[in-house]
Amino acid sequence: MSAAEQNTTGFPSLREDAAEDKALRPTRLQEFVGQPVLKDRLSVSIQAALKRSEPLDHVLLSGPPGLGKTTLASIVAAEMGGRLHATSAPALAKPGDLARVLTLLEETDVLFIDEIHRLSRACEEILYPAMEDGFIDLIVGEGMGAQSVKLPLKPFTLVGATTRSGSLSAPLKSRFGIDLKLEFYELSDLTQIVIRSAALLQIGMSSAAASLIAERSRMTPRAANRLLRRIRDYATVESVAEIQPEFAAQSLASLGVDTLGLTEMDRKLLTLLIERYGGGPVGVKTLASLVDEEEQTLEEDHEPFMLRLGLMEKTPQGRMATEKAAAHLGLSFVKKNEVQQTLF
Ligand code: ADP
Repeated sequence: MSAAEQNTTGFPSLREDAAEDKALRPTRLQEFVGQPVLKDRLSVSIQAALKRSEPLDHVLLSGPPGLGKTTLASIVAAEMGGRLHATSAPALAKPGDLARVLTLLEETDVLFIDEIHRLSRACEEILYPAMEDGFIDLIVGEGMGAQSVKLPLKPFTLVGATTRSGSLSAPLKSRFGIDLKLEFYELSDLTQIVIRSAALLQIGMSSAAASLIAERSRMTPRAANRLLRRIRDYATVESVAEIQPEFAAQSLASLGVDTLGLTEMDRKLLTLLIERYGGGPVGVKTLASLVDEEEQTLEEDHEPFMLRLGLMEKTPQGRMATEKAAAHLGLSFVKKNEVQQTLF
């Protein structure tokens, strides 16, 4: 294993990554690259709320991981001049946990709840009156003596993030006044993000190299930043002062990232579908167990990008690989009768 490869998975590098991730996050809406429609809508709502001296209406952000939902939550807090309290639905196990967080909020604070589709029904029940009328219902006492007490809250803004807006309950969804969907990024925006991040991390890089990295970043800023840092590892080891396209391409090949930005896991999934199942359909549970990966990871980290590129299709019977995927991987579909033989 080379020094650069060690750095790819080594713990110190992961810690560095977390700190650097923070440094790379845009802090104001103006710095946030791309997503013009979303940015425009959010900007109007923020300006209107500031002009009326009111808290911003509750915001729901949906889209695949790594597109900027957490970043936008902190931008909302900064633009509104409030503090950000970040938590996630899995961390709010009991309704009391959520009630406590809500009562601690000050006026204009922003409460960010990540993975909000995973909130329990009991927690949702706490949120409804909090979002709509600014109070929570607390049950004080036990048994016959139990009483419901209304506790007023300071005006706040809830920013909810979800990778699965379809899994959000209708009553919860309807309580968000601002519903924004993050799209995969255009190549020009992603190139700008790579250039911005390289400058912040003081990495010398030609604009052609930045655009090559952007092309292979799965239309996702988090992937772009991650690839950039890994390529920097190679540049450090090989004492390269300015990254050029050839060097970036070589480093990406060593990292197992191909010309479309597919990783080894993406290729493994598509190859399985094509070579073993004649293209599919195969249920996500079966796929997950075959590649020894969590179902959620496949559905959230791998599928959206492959669906978007037209390499995979989702049907009620399961996932299918497309002709485009077979052509990209240089594979041909096994015939259905050959599939029977491979399987039994
Ligand atoms: P999510 O919450 O959707 O998973 P994050 O907000 O954590 O995504 O974003 C992942 C990383 O990508 C952040 O560290 C941030 O630096 C970067 N990023 C996301 N969106 C943008 C953007 N529009 N412009 C610049 N950098 C971005």
